[in-house]
Amino acid sequence: MSENKKHFETEAIRTQTETTQFSEHSVPLYLTSGFVFDDAEEMRASFAEEKQRNLYSRYSNPNVNEFVDKVCAMEGAEAGFAFASGMAAVFSTFATLLEAGDHVVSCSSVFGATHGLFTKYLPKWNIECTYFNVGEVDSVESLIQPNTKFIYAETPTNPGVDVLDLEFLSAICKKHDILLVIDNCFATPYLQNPIKHGADLVIHSATKLMDGQGRVLGGVTVGKKELIREIYLFSRLTGPSMSAFNAWVLSKSLETLAVRVEKHCENALKIATYLEAHPKVKWVKYPFLKSHPKHEVAKKQMRLGGNIVAFEVEGGLEGGKTFLDSLKMCSLSANLGDTRTIVTHPASTTHAKVEPEVKAAAGITDGMARVSVGLEHVDDIIADLEKALK
Ligand SMILES: *Cc1c(COP(=O)(O)O)cnc(C)c1O
Repeated sequence: MSENKKHFETEAIRTQTETTQFSEHSVPLYLTSGFVFDDAEEMRASFAEEKQRNLYSRYSNPNVNEFVDKVCAMEGAEAGFAFASGMAAVFSTFATLLEAGDHVVSCSSVFGATHGLFTKYLPKWNIECTYFNVGEVDSVESLIQPNTKFIYAETPTNPGVDVLDLEFLSAICKKHDILLVIDNCFATPYLQNPIKHGADLVIHSATKLMDGQGRVLGGVTVGKKELIREIYLFSRLTGPSMSAFNAWVLSKSLETLAVRVEKHCENALKIATYLEAHPKVKWVKYPFLKSHPKHEVAKKQMRLGGNIVAFEVEGGLEGGKTFLDSLKMCSLSANLGDTRTIVTHPASTTHAKVEPEVKAAAGITDGMARVSVGLEHVDDIIADLEKALK
């Protein structure tokens, strides 16, 4: 560790916007659309980028800058840009990197809206995507074409909780001189730093564990300076920027990310272990269980196993729905990474209209439930699951 680089928790707390003349201890909220200049020359120099300062909040804002600086410190990234939502980060990154005629290789287990971009909108601009399934990583290299710009993946995946080897993907990208873009939302920068394993850009939906309390939306892309510069130029023109208010909330949330995620993971491992021993549960998937098919990879690239547990209840589609209906405390909600434990049943909701082969490839079975383990006392979460499994 270099002299200036502090530990994760310290960076999360001590990366702060400069104190004002009021000597506040906690960073205030800078709700302002614009910033004023001393004279015409300062204004000219600022617009010409000869002078680094805030001009207009679509470009940058003190609260947003603080949030970005923290995420960069946490991910070991050179630069970043923050967005109104995770999808604004995903779309703006794609729109910056891709041109008509380009091609992307992506894991098929991606967030639903990202799948929508690949299948519905990018083809409109003559950009194609080829999917590989989590079980077919050996074929990834054969999918690369002369016009492939980047490999895209999430790990752990949603909702199947599969794990992809970042160093394996990065080696393929280096060999073919293409980029590796990773959506690191499920792991958070506390558990996994894709840049250290060779990724060029890392995207987060800050809406999930970064906020961690289900309050505001946000997104961020961090990585190589020259790539972020292009993303910045695209975004300051098109306007997907994060609001100062959301940045203020999220920056304070990041101060507690390490302790929150530690506890989320501790609860999740206990729940995964409990479920694995339950007679009505057919299988459990959790990266830090020995039974996980990619347990060794997870151990190599993740600090802990994350807060998402997938498992199969007996009785297929009806069994899964009955299980959800019998929960008393856990919430049925589409969000994840909240203090509150959330349970979903992909086969009857998010993946109800998906073809059986596609579902199978994504590791989704009819009785599969996904738990986003929260911060309630673990015994109370287990008691709720126990009653519902009966
Ligand atoms: C939620 C999510 C997104 C989208 O983020 P929003 O903030 O909802 O726009 C992208 N990727 C993953 C993995 C997510 O879970």
